[in-house]
Amino acid sequence: MNQLSDRINNLSTSATLAMAAKARELRAEGKDIIGLSLGEPDFNTPDFVKEAAIKAVNENYNSYTPVDGYVELKDAIITKFKRDNDLEYSRPQIVVSTGAKQSLFNIASVMLNPGDEVILPCPYWVSYSDIIKLNEGVPVEVKTDIKNDFKMTADQLKAAITPKTKMLWYSSPCNPSGSVYSKDELRALANVLQEHPNIYVVSDEIYEHINFIGGHHSMAQFDDMYHRTITVNGVSKAFAMTGWRIGYIGAPDWIGRACNKIQGQVTSGANCIAQRAVISALEADPVRIQYMVDEFKERRKLILGLLNDVDGFETNEPEGAFYVFPNVSAHFGKTIDGNTINNASDMAMFLLENANVATVTGEAFGNPNCIRISYAASQEQIIEAIKRIKAALS
Ligand code: PMP
Ligand code: GLU
Repeated sequence: MNQLSDRINNLSTSATLAMAAKARELRAEGKDIIGLSLGEPDFNTPDFVKEAAIKAVNENYNSYTPVDGYVELKDAIITKFKRDNDLEYSRPQIVVSTGAKQSLFNIASVMLNPGDEVILPCPYWVSYSDIIKLNEGVPVEVKTDIKNDFKMTADQLKAAITPKTKMLWYSSPCNPSGSVYSKDELRALANVLQEHPNIYVVSDEIYEHINFIGGHHSMAQFDDMYHRTITVNGVSKAFAMTGWRIGYIGAPDWIGRACNKIQGQVTSGANCIAQRAVISALEADPVRIQYMVDEFKERRKLILGLLNDVDGFETNEPEGAFYVFPNVSAHFGKTIDGNTINNASDMAMFLLENANVATVTGEAFGNPNCIRISYAASQEQIIEAIKRIKAALS
């Protein structure tokens, strides 16, 4: 008998992590799988960050840290927010967590009552919806159009708001579409929210530095939105530190204190060595990580060029992050080598089994017509992967 809680029984498995695990399993069986499923930079953590961690170990940083993070780290985050985003925060407004994923979980826990609605422009990052549901909130998906670069318009936001709307969550640059909201587009959304002073915003900016068009804008930069925006960020992507598990928020202080409270009962705070290392990461001039951004830019050009040649893959031009999100619905209903492709999940499975390329179904991101391809892989792997996809589809 299933003795587990309804809460866990109703939770979906993270599709990104599940696909990565499946690819790992197939590789262990000897299959030559190219993994384009996980949003994980394939670079090493920069040496100067690693050195800071080694120094912290040798200096005996081994105790519990303050629940919301070392003061020196919070100060480095405050300086980073000022330097990169022109945002002013004080220490109680900053909370360091075990990855931005935990920051998002904390926010859902401290902000949502059962039945509160959270607007999610689709496609949204895979875990938003389940983090919200785990906290008894109700995700409200807003479909967007590839012709508008998968961005939600002010009218779409307006139409999605109900008396139960508590929050809006989005990422910019967006995982999975790579779209970047301009200042004017954010302002247009903020104008709608002016009429709804009780709606709070999560602005997930974890891909801030992986931006190919320049000009990163934060919702909290608008004076009238600052007091109700929670800015989420972290080091996983920009500093190739996914396994170090450090993320953080800048938020109104009452939200910061609430996140601190929940963390005090759940984790006691993030890992001490990782926190010391992140001080050096955030204090560094962002030019020190530009080589990774430049390489992602090259790969974006490469993969967009290659996908152009793949029949039935319609792709927008991502402006940031390291994903492409092609609409593959032109293939739905086709039978190839005995496999019928009825939806994006079938397509992802078909590509895994017939092309040995791991991608992720768009269904997990709220868009059943697309698949997500991560180009956080070498140029050789990208070339080979698209070659295999093309061959499998023809
Ligand atoms: N937000 C977005 C949009 C992401 O793609 C990710 C992926 N890692 C996260 C948050 C969580 O990042 P982490 O927990 O590694 O800091
Ligand atoms: N955020 C990455 C992704 O979307 C990492 C996986 C995860 O945290 O779910 O692939």
